[in-house]
Amino acid sequence: MHTGVSDTDQERPMLIVPEREIADLMTRQAAFDAVEKVFAAMATGDAYNFPVVREAIGHVDALYGFKGGFDRAGMTLGLKAGGYWPQNLERHGIINHQSTVFLFDPDTGRVSAMVGGNLLTALRTAAASSVSIKHLARDDAKVIGMIGAGHQATFQLRAALEQRAFEKVIGWNLHPEMLPNIEKVAGEAGLPFEAVELDGMAQADVIISITSSFDAILKADQVSAGCHLACMGTDTKGKQEVEPQLLARASVYTDEVAQSVSIGEAQHAVAEGLISESDVGQIGAVINGTDPGRSSDDQITLFDGTGVGLQDLAVAAAVVELAVEKGIAIEVDF
Ligand code: NAD
Repeated sequence: MHTGVSDTDQERPMLIVPEREIADLMTRQAAFDAVEKVFAAMATGDAYNFPVVREAIGHVDALYGFKGGFDRAGMTLGLKAGGYWPQNLERHGIINHQSTVFLFDPDTGRVSAMVGGNLLTALRTAAASSVSIKHLARDDAKVIGMIGAGHQATFQLRAALEQRAFEKVIGWNLHPEMLPNIEKVAGEAGLPFEAVELDGMAQADVIISITSSFDAILKADQVSAGCHLACMGTDTKGKQEVEPQLLARASVYTDEVAQSVSIGEAQHAVAEGLISESDVGQIGAVINGTDPGRSSDDQITLFDGTGVGLQDLAVAAAVVELAVEKGIAIEVDF
């Protein structure tokens, strides 16, 4: 192993960016830029995601899978491998979600990088809702509502607060003892925090939901006109965070339409015939300006963030670049 970058394809080594380095290397801004760019490329057809593989492996209750894709605009090819090991924390003292990103040279197929994917997953997921807030929330949004207060929620709130001049954070969680997690993030940003009942979400101009719920939490009439929602928790068949009628009331956007209607929040509204696939727009089209996005202050907009492999590849490629710049990418002849 040695550091420094070689020039020729033949000599080009594989780069490793270990999980422990990611926190110091990756910024929220770099994650935001990478995700915004790849959403735009998905909408023009320059980037596409491969079918997701997800399997219960029949060992320690683990769910393991791959998410991959190719971005011709960013020249990023690769996959994220990993999943959920529910006994990790208790048995091994490590987090239950484990993932690693592998990048390949699109010109040669040679593996180019291996990158720790755990923190990157939280950053890219927070970047996705943040991109939706930038492009779809009202400019004068003042109150942000959080539904969920777990691991992802803190990342979500931190990133969202950078998008508008928010003055107050409100929050609801099924397990109220977890609310201090998001109260702390609000406090760090110098903002007041208020725990509310779900009816209290009516005061929110932006709502982020990021829970593991399998039932609708938020009702359509608990949301005010003009609100932007980022529904981020529903990434599997059967999961659900909001009443399907809310999607019928809203202009719905997503990262990837095929995922939105099958494993995302829109699966329920589509199954009930309240909306159809053609009612779901791509956030990338709003970024590119081919879809006008929000058209009035009264409109409710809803981003169904299902999570795509290309987001992982985009942030991994960005972090590899930063690691090379700082001379801390580990090189391995391969
Ligand atoms: P976590 O375990 O740290 O937190 C779970 C949250 O869900 C907590 O707020 C908890 O109170 C709440 N919750 C649990 N069961 C619930 C129920 N039955 N009804 C309502 N709320 C419930 O998990 P996390 O890491 O914060 O992940 C939250 C969700 O985000 C998960 O569903 C995860 O799959 C999803 N996720 C989505 C993406 C994406 O790209 N869209 C990426 C990562 C995680």
